[in-house]
Amino acid sequence: MRVLLVEDDERIVNFVQRGLKADGYIVEVARNGLEAIALGTEGKFQVIILDLGLPDLNGQQVCEHLRSNGVHTPILMLTARDTVQDKVTGLRSGADDYMTKPFAFEELLARIEVLMRRRGGETKPETKELQIADLILNGETHEVRRGETLIDLTPKEFALLECLMRMPGKVLSRTRILEQVWGYSTDPLTNVVDVYIRQLRKKIDDNYDLKLLKTVRGYGYKLDAS
Ligand code: CA
Repeated sequence: MRVLLVEDDERIVNFVQRGLKADGYIVEVARNGLEAIALGTEGKFQVIILDLGLPDLNGQQVCEHLRSNGVHTPILMLTARDTVQDKVTGLRSGADDYMTKPFAFEELLARIEVLMRRRGGETKPETKELQIADLILNGETHEVRRGETLIDLTPKEFALLECLMRMPGKVLSRTRILEQVWGYSTDPLTNVVDVYIRQLRKKIDDNYDLKLLKTVRGYGYKLDAS
């Protein structure tokens, strides 16, 4: 069993790593958010233990990022805070469970086991293919097609398209898209969403009569076939 431990506090890393190894787990450690996203996206872990307070991104952003990249690994969030609001925020960002520091190792172990059992009990994997009109996105092969034509997208363009396709017909604000696809709550580059929308539109709509990607002035963007 492989566990990804995302934590910047060396004492907690040592304590958790030692305990898990003794219990037969293979542990890999990420010490910041970007490293966590890179490792977590590989999809080789059975559980991700994710600290909320990291030096670059916070755990919530990492979690949202992984989920919007189609990573369904169970995530156990660790935090020093224990307000209800923090728990709600953590769970809403896509974490499966929540634990407050300091914690007993036995409890961590028990929670990991519950998460893995829950995962193992899932019989049917969720549908990996999204479709709107003749536009098809396959989350497993990472292929996008319009009709028979294969469309070549960068990973970010793919994530953006997936984000829009998961909510067909719904208008998504720039802020919402930014959070889901980039994991930021404010735009560091001021128009990154618009730039990527333009690139995506060129690839999925420009050569076709039926336009799917719509701009809703003053609100954001949506994808539908109407
Ligand atoms: Ca920390």
